[in-house]
Amino acid sequence: MTAFAQNPTDILDRLAELRRADAPTHGGRVLSYVYDSGLAELDELAAAAIRAVQPLNGLDPTTFSSIAVMERELIGFAREVLHGDTDVVGTITTGGTESCLLAVKTARDVWRAAGGTGVPRLLAATTVHAAFHKAAHYFGLELDLVPVDPATGAPAVDAIAARLDPSVALVVVSAPSYPTATFDPIAEVAALAAERGVACHVDACIGGFALPWWRGGGLPAWDFRLPGVTSISADLHKYGYAPKGASVLLQRGRDRQRMQYFATTRWMGYPVVNPTMLGSKSAAPLAAAWAIVNALGPAGFAQLTATAERATVALVAVVNGIEGLRVVGDPVGPLFAAAVDESVPADRRVDPHRWADAVRQHGFIIQLQPGLSQADGTRVPHSTHLTITPVTEAQLPALTEALVAAADEVRGMPQASADGILEALGPVLEGFGGTLPDSEQAAGLLAAVGIGADGAGLPSELAPLLALIEALPPALAERLLTELLARLVEPVVAG
Ligand SMILES: *Cc1c(COP(=O)(O)O)cnc(C)c1O
Repeated sequence: MTAFAQNPTDILDRLAELRRADAPTHGGRVLSYVYDSGLAELDELAAAAIRAVQPLNGLDPTTFSSIAVMERELIGFAREVLHGDTDVVGTITTGGTESCLLAVKTARDVWRAAGGTGVPRLLAATTVHAAFHKAAHYFGLELDLVPVDPATGAPAVDAIAARLDPSVALVVVSAPSYPTATFDPIAEVAALAAERGVACHVDACIGGFALPWWRGGGLPAWDFRLPGVTSISADLHKYGYAPKGASVLLQRGRDRQRMQYFATTRWMGYPVVNPTMLGSKSAAPLAAAWAIVNALGPAGFAQLTATAERATVALVAVVNGIEGLRVVGDPVGPLFAAAVDESVPADRRVDPHRWADAVRQHGFIIQLQPGLSQADGTRVPHSTHLTITPVTEAQLPALTEALVAAADEVRGMPQASADGILEALGPVLEGFGGTLPDSEQAAGLLAAVGIGADGAGLPSELAPLLALIEALPPALAERLLTELLARLVEPVVAG
């Protein structure tokens, strides 16, 4: 062997040790981030596919033709299940965020080419995914968020209609939304958009490979069956069960889709023609997703979706049956949120964040979501999110026990308060006089509120942290969280 600085076995041992500290990716203990089919053979198949394409460069499907074939077949599958005609074309991207970014960039450029001037608007409900905040920020659109009913997470069609004018480059509806699993009024909005000549994107990042089989495929049409829908994003690395790094963006109309591309022959190297954001890229997620989709086929998806649906129905009933909690709105798809039930006396209420912290002590991780003020002054309450996967069904007895016991433990406890911390920080915050802290000051503030800015990570109880995030001005909260994450990857200096 050549001169390695370290023995490969030792390196892999260290990696295995590091991996032991991670949250479990399999078995249904983590109800967000990971989408476990429960089929070990699928993971093995994906690993083998990844290995087979490991050295390829996804930059150039003319040199590496296997990439074009796999991509073409995956797009064909997505187009079929989302009822696209032959004028629907697509791209495999690295994830939902990239699909959403590209949908917005395309719409902006189409809008400009059609004579739009000034700042284009991106119209969506408050529940729209943060990827669209990012897209508006990256591509210079004004994000116009339509308030939703704070109790249900549902936007009113009238409110969207009132704001849908020619300055809108893209209206986005969700199938369903991430925070509350709201199935937006897609048919109504798509029809209005078509009438007014506005592009309409359906964000089916989370629902795209589950809703086609949800209720046996009996949902009202939300995909390319609606003529007003111009693009759809659907994540292969969610309910496509692929490892992270794969999503599909479908667009109606070749000419529209060509606006997604970036091409240049005006530099000294090879001609660049990129449908996506990256240049050189891995073919691994594509190959893994392609292998999994081939293995499952529509029947496999139908079966996995049915399993997740049974578990979701059961868990919605469990949470609705817990005194002091309520399921938010009318969720559609394998996810939902729980919020406090204000119809019971204060001493019988369950704060969803205290509950999530208690559930964690019982071995399950559910996701805390902060409350949010909307443009009309109403406030969407804080909640806790659960994403349900096929493996959740086998966990139902243990999970139900955990959810119920945790609620009993925290019932009557009020929402965590950030008042104490805010009071202590008050003079310091005033010292910034409206400017944001620099990295040293931000690290100092984090240390002052007891959050390890030294790579030690988050406290075991997240409810107080979420309360702080809700209480701080968003720009300051964002700056502090940026500092926290940035410090996490700073090299550790010995001494
Ligand atoms: C997950 C998700 C996204 C973003 O996807 P990433 O794959 O995390 O980048 C966008 N929209 C919705 C509704 C999602 O659930």
